[in-house]
Amino acid sequence: MTTVALKDVTKVFPDGTVAVDNVSLDVNDGEFMVLLGPSGCGKSTVLRMVAGLEDPTSGAVLLDGELANDLPPRDRGIAMVFQDFALYPHMTVGNNIAFPLRLSGVEETARGERVADVASALGIGDVLARKPSQLSGGQRQRVAMGRAIVRRPGLFLMDEPLSNLDSGLRAELRAEISGLVRELGVSTVYVTHDQAEALTMADRVAIMRKGVLQDVGTPTQVYGRPATLYVAAFLGSPRMNLLEATVYVHLDRYVTLNLGEQALYLPWDDIRARAVAHYHGERIVVGMRAEALTPVAPDSPGDVLQGRIRYLEHHGHESLAFLDIGATAIVVDDLGAPVTGDRAGGAGRGIRRLSQVMQRLAGRATA
Ligand code: ATP
Repeated sequence: MTTVALKDVTKVFPDGTVAVDNVSLDVNDGEFMVLLGPSGCGKSTVLRMVAGLEDPTSGAVLLDGELANDLPPRDRGIAMVFQDFALYPHMTVGNNIAFPLRLSGVEETARGERVADVASALGIGDVLARKPSQLSGGQRQRVAMGRAIVRRPGLFLMDEPLSNLDSGLRAELRAEISGLVRELGVSTVYVTHDQAEALTMADRVAIMRKGVLQDVGTPTQVYGRPATLYVAAFLGSPRMNLLEATVYVHLDRYVTLNLGEQALYLPWDDIRARAVAHYHGERIVVGMRAEALTPVAPDSPGDVLQGRIRYLEHHGHESLAFLDIGATAIVVDDLGAPVTGDRAGGAGRGIRRLSQVMQRLAGRATA
């Protein structure tokens, strides 16, 4: 299957908009790469340059190691799926799927067989005679997928293919699409602004902001060890707690992270203590996910922060507690917390186990 390599790729539109700023990224053979980022960050422009629908202003696009900057789209061995499906309304489902085969001159019997195979893999074998207008949104998207798959491309490019569907169908189709693509083993670049989609479907996620690539890694890597403060704050719901702290390395070899009136203690044998030690005397940003913090009774021993509950938010499967700890507000996953007094009444509460101060700190505080 096709590999993709972007080398220092920049795209500046004629009006001066820098849509993509010096991006380098590799997509390996058979890999499912998701480009993730907010609207306007340049994801689609990257995809369109891989497709050959936009020319890079500078830099190189390589397909299978060969420079492809001047290769026309039709010679790139790619298939694209967009959010608006773009089916031909006057053609039956079967003819829609068969269309790319007709264009490339595959004869009728072989065409019929391939269409039947693909339709059955996608669970739309019984609607081949219908027109697109007679299908549900999910079925239409399956047809669009079918039309992309049928030519057996070396590379799939998908731009928000699920964003026009309701949330239940989206969740169902994202599992189907990633399962199918993996079965076919086709390298894929998939664009979305939906982090749940990115984290559940991707082999690796590339996160962009304002045209700049921020981080690339497996979902576990970018979630657990984000490369930049932006990625730390962007991924995850609730948002990661980001606290400014001053680092003190004590002579008897332990580290405290001073948060104002309170401090977190890291014994020297904790790898995180050594990771921050060279910031002695400096202000840094400490990242803590809500699920890494455990609410305990106020008088509990150990590494405890005291906080005052501002409010609780119930989400069915979990509850979140929003706390003030001195000058800072943080959020804690409150599931299974011991009840001490009035839960929502503002009783002082501790938060124990700083179990996930990020090993690689997201960056220094700007303050
Ligand atoms: P979305 O999720 O909203 O589709 P995106 O991350 O895919 O956003 P792009 O469509 O790649 O973003 O656009 C990146 C930037 O380039 C945006 O600021 C956009 O307005 C700008 N842009 C896109 N196409 C053009 C164009 N033809 N001329 C000028 N600016 C453009």
